[in-house]
Amino acid sequence: PRLLIPRESLPGETRVAATPETIKKFLGLGCHVHVQEGAGLLAGFIKEDYIKAGAEVFAAEDSNLLRQVDAVLCVNSPQQALLSKLSKGTLLVGLLAPYGNSSLEASLKSNQLSALALELLPRISRAQSSDALSSQANIAGYKATLLAASALDRYFPMLMTAAGTVQPAKVVILGAGVAGLQAIATAKRLGAVVYVSDIRPAVKEQVESLGARFINPPELEEKPNEAGGYARQASELFLAAQRKQLMEQLSEADVAICTAQVPGKKAPRLLNEEMLDQMRPGSVVIDLAVSQGGNCFGTKPGETIVRKGVRLIGASDLPCSVPNHASVLYSRNLLSLISPLVKDGEFILDTNDEMIDGSLISENGVIRHENVFNAGG
Ligand code: NAD
Repeated sequence: PRLLIPRESLPGETRVAATPETIKKFLGLGCHVHVQEGAGLLAGFIKEDYIKAGAEVFAAEDSNLLRQVDAVLCVNSPQQALLSKLSKGTLLVGLLAPYGNSSLEASLKSNQLSALALELLPRISRAQSSDALSSQANIAGYKATLLAASALDRYFPMLMTAAGTVQPAKVVILGAGVAGLQAIATAKRLGAVVYVSDIRPAVKEQVESLGARFINPPELEEKPNEAGGYARQASELFLAAQRKQLMEQLSEADVAICTAQVPGKKAPRLLNEEMLDQMRPGSVVIDLAVSQGGNCFGTKPGETIVRKGVRLIGASDLPCSVPNHASVLYSRNLLSLISPLVKDGEFILDTNDEMIDGSLISENGVIRHENVFNAGG
Protein backbone atom coordinates (compact mmCIF):
# COMPACT_ATOMS: atom_id res chain seq x y z
CA PRO A 1 0.00 0.00 0.00
CA ARG A 2 0.95 3.63 -0.53
CA LEU A 3 1.26 6.03 2.41
CA LEU A 4 1.31 9.78 2.10
CA ILE A 5 2.91 12.09 4.67
CA PRO A 6 1.75 15.66 4.00
CA ARG A 7 3.49 18.82 5.09
CA GLU A 8 1.28 20.01 7.95
CA SER A 9 -0.77 23.05 6.99
CA LEU A 10 -2.17 24.26 10.33
CA PRO A 11 -0.48 27.53 11.36
CA GLY A 12 1.97 26.95 14.25
CA GLU A 13 2.18 23.19 13.66
CA THR A 14 5.79 22.00 13.79
CA ARG A 15 5.33 18.24 14.09
CA VAL A 16 5.30 15.57 11.40
CA ALA A 17 3.50 12.20 11.25
CA ALA A 18 6.43 10.07 10.09
CA THR A 19 10.16 10.13 10.77
CA PRO A 20 12.93 8.30 8.90
CA GLU A 21 12.79 5.68 11.68
CA THR A 22 9.09 4.84 11.18
CA ILE A 23 9.37 5.09 7.39
CA LYS A 24 11.98 2.32 7.38
CA LYS A 25 9.58 0.16 9.39
CA PHE A 26 6.70 0.87 6.99
CA LEU A 27 8.92 -0.06 4.04
CA GLY A 28 9.72 -3.31 5.83
CA LEU A 29 5.97 -4.05 5.84
CA GLY A 30 5.86 -3.61 2.07
CA CYS A 31 4.51 -0.04 2.02
CA HIS A 32 5.58 2.75 -0.32
CA VAL A 33 5.97 6.05 1.50
CA HIS A 34 5.56 9.44 -0.20
CA VAL A 35 6.65 12.47 1.81
CA GLN A 36 5.62 15.94 0.72
CA GLU A 37 8.63 18.24 0.37
CA GLY A 38 9.08 20.36 3.50
CA ALA A 39 7.31 17.87 5.80
CA GLY A 40 9.36 17.32 8.95
CA LEU A 41 11.66 20.27 8.40
CA LEU A 42 10.45 22.11 11.53
CA ALA A 43 10.97 18.92 13.56
CA GLY A 44 14.57 18.57 12.39
CA PHE A 45 14.12 16.04 9.57
CA ILE A 46 15.45 17.10 6.19
CA LYS A 47 14.60 15.80 2.74
CA GLU A 48 17.85 13.82 2.53
CA ASP A 49 17.00 11.96 5.77
CA TYR A 50 13.70 10.84 4.31
CA ILE A 51 15.27 9.81 1.00
CA LYS A 52 17.98 7.87 2.83
CA ALA A 53 15.26 6.05 4.78
CA GLY A 54 13.70 5.00 1.47
CA ALA A 55 10.82 7.48 1.11
CA GLU A 56 9.96 9.24 -2.13
CA VAL A 57 9.79 12.99 -1.71
CA PHE A 58 7.31 14.76 -3.96
CA ALA A 59 7.46 18.46 -4.69
CA ALA A 60 3.92 19.81 -4.95
CA GLU A 61 0.48 18.41 -4.45
CA ASP A 62 0.67 15.96 -7.31
CA SER A 63 -2.95 15.07 -8.15
CA ASN A 64 -1.93 11.87 -9.86
CA LEU A 65 -0.09 10.63 -6.80
CA LEU A 66 -2.84 11.75 -4.40
CA ARG A 67 -5.35 9.62 -6.32
CA GLN A 68 -3.16 6.54 -5.84
CA VAL A 69 -2.45 6.65 -2.11
CA ASP A 70 -4.19 4.26 0.29
CA ALA A 71 -3.61 6.19 3.49
CA VAL A 72 -2.64 9.67 4.64
CA LEU A 73 -0.81 9.88 7.97
CA CYS A 74 -1.03 13.34 9.46
CA VAL A 75 -0.87 15.26 12.72
CA ASN A 76 -3.85 17.55 11.96
CA SER A 77 -6.40 16.94 9.23
CA PRO A 78 -5.15 18.28 5.87
CA GLN A 79 -7.19 20.98 4.15
CA GLN A 80 -10.09 20.22 1.83
CA ALA A 81 -7.87 21.11 -1.19
CA LEU A 82 -5.81 17.99 -0.50
CA LEU A 83 -8.63 15.77 0.78
CA SER A 84 -10.71 16.41 -2.33
CA LYS A 85 -7.96 14.92 -4.52
CA LEU A 86 -7.92 11.56 -2.69
CA SER A 87 -9.74 8.51 -4.03
CA LYS A 88 -12.84 7.09 -2.40
CA GLY A 89 -11.96 4.90 0.58
CA THR A 90 -8.56 6.46 1.29
CA LEU A 91 -7.78 6.17 5.00
CA LEU A 92 -6.95 9.31 6.97
CA VAL A 93 -5.16 8.82 10.31
CA GLY A 94 -4.31 11.57 12.76
CA LEU A 95 -5.37 13.82 15.60
CA LEU A 96 -8.39 14.88 13.58
CA ALA A 97 -10.09 16.96 16.32
CA PRO A 98 -13.46 15.29 15.66
CA TYR A 99 -15.50 16.71 18.56
CA GLY A 100 -18.15 19.06 17.18
CA ASN A 101 -16.17 19.31 13.91
CA SER A 102 -18.86 19.67 11.25
CA SER A 103 -16.45 20.70 8.49
CA LEU A 104 -14.42 17.50 9.00
CA GLU A 105 -17.65 15.51 8.93
CA ALA A 106 -18.74 17.18 5.67
CA SER A 107 -15.34 16.65 4.11
CA LEU A 108 -15.17 12.94 5.03
CA LYS A 109 -18.67 12.46 3.61
CA SER A 110 -18.20 14.38 0.38
CA ASN A 111 -14.80 12.81 -0.38
CA GLN A 112 -15.98 9.34 0.80
CA LEU A 113 -12.94 8.87 3.03
CA SER A 114 -12.29 6.51 5.91
CA ALA A 115 -10.76 8.05 9.02
CA LEU A 116 -9.19 6.99 12.31
CA ALA A 117 -9.23 9.76 14.94
CA LEU A 118 -6.52 9.11 17.53
CA GLU A 119 -8.49 11.10 20.12
CA LEU A 120 -11.02 8.26 20.25
CA LEU A 121 -8.70 5.28 20.76
CA PRO A 122 -9.94 3.44 23.84
CA ARG A 123 -7.60 3.78 26.83
CA ILE A 124 -6.97 0.02 27.05
CA SER A 125 -3.58 -1.60 27.78
CA ARG A 126 -3.24 -2.93 24.22
CA ALA A 127 -3.69 0.61 22.84
CA GLN A 128 -0.99 2.20 25.00
CA SER A 129 1.75 2.16 22.35
CA SER A 130 -0.63 3.89 19.91
CA ASP A 131 -1.87 6.44 22.44
CA ALA A 132 -0.98 9.78 20.88
CA LEU A 133 -3.02 11.78 23.39
CA SER A 134 -0.73 10.45 26.11
CA SER A 135 2.56 10.92 24.24
CA GLN A 136 1.64 14.53 23.46
CA ALA A 137 0.10 15.31 26.87
CA ASN A 138 3.26 14.07 28.52
CA ILE A 139 5.27 16.66 26.57
CA ALA A 140 2.73 19.37 27.35
CA GLY A 141 2.94 18.66 31.08
CA TYR A 142 6.73 18.74 31.09
CA LYS A 143 6.90 21.96 29.10
CA ALA A 144 4.15 23.63 31.19
CA THR A 145 6.33 23.34 34.29
CA LEU A 146 9.39 24.68 32.48
CA LEU A 147 7.35 27.60 31.15
CA ALA A 148 6.08 28.36 34.66
CA ALA A 149 9.58 28.16 36.12
CA SER A 150 10.97 30.57 33.57
CA ALA A 151 8.07 33.04 33.90
CA LEU A 152 8.13 33.00 37.72
CA ASP A 153 9.86 35.80 39.62
CA ARG A 154 11.25 33.29 42.11
CA TYR A 155 13.37 30.15 42.26
CA PHE A 156 11.62 26.76 42.23
CA PRO A 157 14.01 25.00 44.67
CA MET A 158 14.74 25.90 48.25
CA LEU A 159 18.23 27.36 48.29
CA MET A 160 20.53 28.02 51.19
CA THR A 161 22.94 30.70 50.08
CA ALA A 162 25.41 33.03 51.76
CA ALA A 163 22.71 35.69 51.48
CA GLY A 164 20.29 33.51 53.40
CA THR A 165 17.69 30.90 52.60
CA VAL A 166 14.87 31.13 50.05
CA GLN A 167 11.80 28.94 50.39
CA PRO A 168 10.76 26.53 47.60
CA ALA A 169 8.05 27.60 45.19
CA LYS A 170 4.55 26.34 45.89
CA VAL A 171 2.94 24.85 42.78
CA VAL A 172 -0.73 23.89 42.55
CA ILE A 173 -1.60 21.46 39.76
CA LEU A 174 -5.22 21.07 38.72
CA GLY A 175 -5.93 17.76 36.99
CA ALA A 176 -3.63 14.74 37.36
CA GLY A 177 -4.09 12.95 34.03
CA VAL A 178 -1.10 12.31 31.82
CA ALA A 179 -0.12 15.99 31.46
CA GLY A 180 -0.72 16.76 35.14
CA LEU A 181 1.38 13.81 36.35
CA GLN A 182 4.32 14.85 34.15
CA ALA A 183 3.93 18.46 35.31
CA ILE A 184 4.11 17.20 38.92
CA ALA A 185 7.20 15.09 38.25
CA THR A 186 8.98 17.98 36.51
CA ALA A 187 8.09 20.47 39.27
CA LYS A 188 9.33 18.03 41.92
CA ARG A 189 12.62 17.58 40.04
CA LEU A 190 13.03 21.35 40.13
CA GLY A 191 12.49 21.32 43.90
CA ALA A 192 9.01 22.84 44.24
CA VAL A 193 6.41 21.89 46.83
CA VAL A 194 3.45 20.55 44.85
CA TYR A 195 -0.28 20.34 45.67
CA VAL A 196 -2.65 18.54 43.32
CA SER A 197 -6.41 18.55 42.80
CA ASP A 198 -8.27 15.95 40.76
CA ILE A 199 -11.79 14.61 41.03
CA ARG A 200 -10.84 11.00 40.35
CA PRO A 201 -9.80 9.63 43.78
CA ALA A 202 -7.92 6.85 41.92
CA VAL A 203 -5.09 9.27 41.11
CA LYS A 204 -4.35 10.08 44.78
CA GLU A 205 -1.87 7.22 45.02
CA GLN A 206 -0.07 8.22 41.79
CA VAL A 207 0.16 11.83 42.95
CA GLU A 208 1.56 10.84 46.34
CA SER A 209 4.06 8.43 44.81
CA LEU A 210 5.51 11.43 42.95
CA GLY A 211 5.99 13.20 46.28
CA ALA A 212 3.13 15.68 45.87
CA ARG A 213 0.19 16.32 48.21
CA PHE A 214 -3.30 15.39 47.07
CA ILE A 215 -6.24 17.71 47.71
CA ASN A 216 -9.22 15.37 48.20
CA PRO A 217 -12.24 16.17 45.99
CA PRO A 218 -15.20 17.90 47.71
CA GLU A 219 -17.32 15.48 49.71
CA LEU A 220 -20.66 15.74 47.95
CA GLU A 221 -23.15 13.12 46.95
CA GLU A 222 -22.29 13.73 43.30
CA LYS A 223 -19.23 11.74 42.19
CA PRO A 224 -18.20 12.92 38.70
CA ASN A 225 -15.26 10.50 38.69
CA GLU A 226 -14.80 7.72 36.20
CA ALA A 227 -16.49 6.94 32.93
CA GLY A 228 -14.16 4.62 31.03
CA GLY A 229 -11.20 5.94 33.04
CA TYR A 230 -12.07 9.57 32.32
CA ALA A 231 -13.67 12.18 34.56
CA ARG A 232 -17.24 13.15 33.73
CA GLN A 233 -18.44 16.73 33.59
CA ALA A 234 -19.01 18.01 37.13
CA SER A 235 -22.10 20.08 37.98
CA GLU A 236 -21.82 23.80 38.75
CA LEU A 237 -22.57 22.96 42.40
CA PHE A 238 -19.65 20.54 42.55
CA LEU A 239 -17.29 23.01 40.85
CA ALA A 240 -18.33 25.76 43.25
CA ALA A 241 -17.41 23.51 46.20
CA GLN A 242 -14.11 22.66 44.53
CA ARG A 243 -13.26 26.33 43.91
CA LYS A 244 -13.98 27.15 47.54
CA GLN A 245 -11.59 24.38 48.55
CA LEU A 246 -8.85 25.62 46.19
CA MET A 247 -9.08 29.25 47.26
CA GLU A 248 -6.77 28.85 50.25
CA GLN A 249 -4.14 26.86 48.30
CA LEU A 250 -4.07 29.47 45.56
CA SER A 251 -3.66 32.40 47.92
CA GLU A 252 -0.30 30.90 48.90
CA ALA A 253 0.70 29.59 45.47
CA ASP A 254 3.48 30.81 43.21
CA VAL A 255 2.31 28.78 40.26
CA ALA A 256 -0.94 27.13 39.15
CA ILE A 257 -0.78 24.63 36.28
CA CYS A 258 -4.24 23.85 34.90
CA THR A 259 -4.68 20.55 33.05
CA ALA A 260 -8.24 19.55 34.01
CA GLN A 261 -10.30 18.32 31.07
CA VAL A 262 -13.32 16.22 30.23
CA PRO A 263 -13.11 14.70 26.72
CA GLY A 264 -15.46 16.31 24.23
CA LYS A 265 -16.74 18.84 26.78
CA LYS A 266 -15.90 22.36 27.81
CA ALA A 267 -13.07 22.34 30.38
CA PRO A 268 -14.21 22.90 33.99
CA ARG A 269 -13.76 26.49 35.21
CA LEU A 270 -11.62 26.05 38.34
CA LEU A 271 -10.06 29.52 38.76
CA ASN A 272 -12.40 32.51 38.77
CA GLU A 273 -11.69 36.21 39.18
CA GLU A 274 -12.12 36.10 42.94
CA MET A 275 -9.49 33.37 43.19
CA LEU A 276 -7.07 35.21 40.89
CA ASP A 277 -7.49 38.26 43.13
CA GLN A 278 -6.05 36.16 45.97
CA MET A 279 -2.89 35.24 44.05
CA ARG A 280 0.21 37.30 44.69
CA PRO A 281 1.60 39.64 41.99
CA GLY A 282 4.47 37.82 40.29
CA SER A 283 2.74 34.45 40.41
CA VAL A 284 2.02 32.48 37.23
CA VAL A 285 -0.94 30.50 35.86
CA ILE A 286 -0.40 28.10 32.95
CA ASP A 287 -3.67 27.00 31.35
CA LEU A 288 -3.27 23.86 29.24
CA ALA A 289 -7.05 23.58 28.85
CA VAL A 290 -7.26 27.00 27.18
CA SER A 291 -8.38 25.65 23.79
CA GLN A 292 -11.25 23.77 25.48
CA GLY A 293 -12.54 26.96 27.08
CA GLY A 294 -9.92 27.18 29.83
CA ASN A 295 -9.72 26.14 33.48
CA CYS A 296 -8.85 29.73 34.36
CA PHE A 297 -10.73 32.99 33.86
CA GLY A 298 -9.23 35.28 31.23
CA THR A 299 -6.68 33.02 29.51
CA LYS A 300 -6.42 33.15 25.70
CA PRO A 301 -4.77 30.55 23.41
CA GLY A 302 -1.15 31.43 22.69
CA GLU A 303 -1.26 34.64 24.74
CA THR A 304 0.22 35.86 28.02
CA ILE A 305 -1.98 38.32 29.86
CA VAL A 306 -0.83 40.14 32.99
CA ARG A 307 -3.77 40.63 35.36
CA LYS A 308 -3.01 42.57 38.54
CA GLY A 309 0.58 41.33 38.35
CA VAL A 310 -0.37 37.66 37.83
CA ARG A 311 0.80 36.18 34.53
CA LEU A 312 -1.93 34.17 32.81
CA ILE A 313 -0.39 32.00 30.09
CA GLY A 314 -2.72 30.29 27.61
CA ALA A 315 -0.53 27.33 26.61
CA SER A 316 -2.38 25.82 23.68
CA ASP A 317 0.36 24.23 21.63
CA LEU A 318 3.12 23.01 23.93
CA PRO A 319 3.83 19.73 22.07
CA CYS A 320 4.71 21.92 19.05
CA SER A 321 7.42 23.59 21.14
CA VAL A 322 9.24 20.24 21.45
CA PRO A 323 8.78 19.27 17.78
CA ASN A 324 11.48 16.62 17.42
CA HIS A 325 10.54 14.36 20.31
CA ALA A 326 6.84 15.12 19.82
CA SER A 327 7.17 13.81 16.24
CA VAL A 328 9.38 10.85 17.19
CA LEU A 329 6.80 9.64 19.73
CA TYR A 330 3.74 10.53 17.66
CA SER A 331 5.06 8.74 14.57
CA ARG A 332 5.74 5.62 16.68
CA ASN A 333 2.13 5.80 17.94
CA LEU A 334 0.96 5.78 14.30
CA LEU A 335 3.29 2.94 13.33
CA SER A 336 1.98 0.85 16.19
CA LEU A 337 -1.66 1.52 15.24
CA ILE A 338 -1.25 1.10 11.47
CA SER A 339 1.20 -1.75 11.04
CA PRO A 340 -1.22 -4.52 12.17
CA LEU A 341 -3.71 -3.25 9.56
CA VAL A 342 -1.43 -4.01 6.60
CA LYS A 343 -2.51 -7.32 5.11
CA ASP A 344 -1.82 -8.62 1.60
CA GLY A 345 -0.83 -5.23 0.25
CA GLU A 346 -3.77 -3.25 1.62
CA PHE A 347 -5.20 -1.80 4.82
CA ILE A 348 -7.88 -3.94 6.41
CA LEU A 349 -10.07 -2.19 8.99
CA ASP A 350 -11.72 -4.73 11.26
CA THR A 351 -14.47 -3.07 13.27
CA ASN A 352 -14.62 -6.12 15.55
CA ASP A 353 -11.33 -4.83 16.94
CA GLU A 354 -12.10 -2.52 19.89
CA MET A 355 -9.35 -0.08 18.89
CA ILE A 356 -10.63 0.29 15.32
CA ASP A 357 -14.27 0.34 16.36
CA GLY A 358 -13.56 3.13 18.87
CA SER A 359 -11.52 5.37 16.59
CA LEU A 360 -13.00 4.78 13.11
CA ILE A 361 -15.16 7.88 12.64
CA SER A 362 -15.88 7.34 8.95
CA GLU A 363 -15.91 4.31 6.70
CA ASN A 364 -15.81 5.27 3.00
CA GLY A 365 -17.67 8.46 3.90
CA VAL A 366 -20.32 6.80 6.07
CA ILE A 367 -20.09 8.55 9.41
CA ARG A 368 -19.73 6.44 12.57
CA HIS A 369 -19.90 7.90 16.10
CA GLU A 370 -22.31 10.66 15.02
CA ASN A 371 -22.46 11.80 18.68
CA VAL A 372 -18.79 12.82 18.53
CA PHE A 373 -19.40 15.21 15.64
CA ASN A 374 -22.44 16.59 17.46
CA ALA A 375 -20.55 17.03 20.76
CA GLY A 376 -20.04 20.43 22.28
CA GLY A 377 -20.23 22.51 25.46
P1 NAD B 1 -7.76 14.37 30.43
O1 NAD B 1 -6.79 15.17 29.63
O2 NAD B 1 -9.07 14.04 29.84
O3 NAD B 1 -8.04 15.14 31.81
C1 NAD B 1 -6.98 15.53 32.63
C2 NAD B 1 -7.36 15.33 34.09
O4 NAD B 1 -8.32 16.31 34.47
C3 NAD B 1 -7.98 13.97 34.42
O5 NAD B 1 -7.16 13.33 35.37
C4 NAD B 1 -9.35 14.34 34.98
O6 NAD B 1 -9.75 13.47 36.03
C5 NAD B 1 -9.08 15.73 35.49
N1 NAD B 1 -10.28 16.55 35.77
C6 NAD B 1 -11.45 16.64 35.11
N2 NAD B 1 -12.30 17.49 35.74
C7 NAD B 1 -11.62 17.98 36.81
C8 NAD B 1 -11.94 18.89 37.85
N3 NAD B 1 -13.12 19.50 37.92
N4 NAD B 1 -10.99 19.13 38.78
C9 NAD B 1 -9.77 18.53 38.75
N5 NAD B 1 -9.42 17.66 37.80
C10 NAD B 1 -10.34 17.37 36.85
O7 NAD B 1 -7.10 13.02 30.98
P2 NAD B 1 -5.95 12.13 30.34
O8 NAD B 1 -4.64 12.66 30.71
O9 NAD B 1 -6.25 11.96 28.91
O10 NAD B 1 -6.16 10.77 31.13
C11 NAD B 1 -7.46 10.24 31.27
C12 NAD B 1 -7.42 8.88 31.91
O11 NAD B 1 -6.91 7.90 31.04
C13 NAD B 1 -6.57 8.77 33.14
O12 NAD B 1 -7.21 7.88 34.04
C14 NAD B 1 -5.31 8.14 32.67
O13 NAD B 1 -4.58 7.53 33.70
C15 NAD B 1 -5.91 7.16 31.73
N6 NAD B 1 -4.98 6.67 30.75
C16 NAD B 1 -4.95 5.32 30.53
C17 NAD B 1 -4.11 4.78 29.60
C18 NAD B 1 -4.09 3.32 29.32
O14 NAD B 1 -4.28 2.52 30.20
N7 NAD B 1 -3.92 2.95 28.07
C19 NAD B 1 -3.27 5.61 28.87
C20 NAD B 1 -3.31 6.99 29.13
C21 NAD B 1 -4.19 7.49 30.06
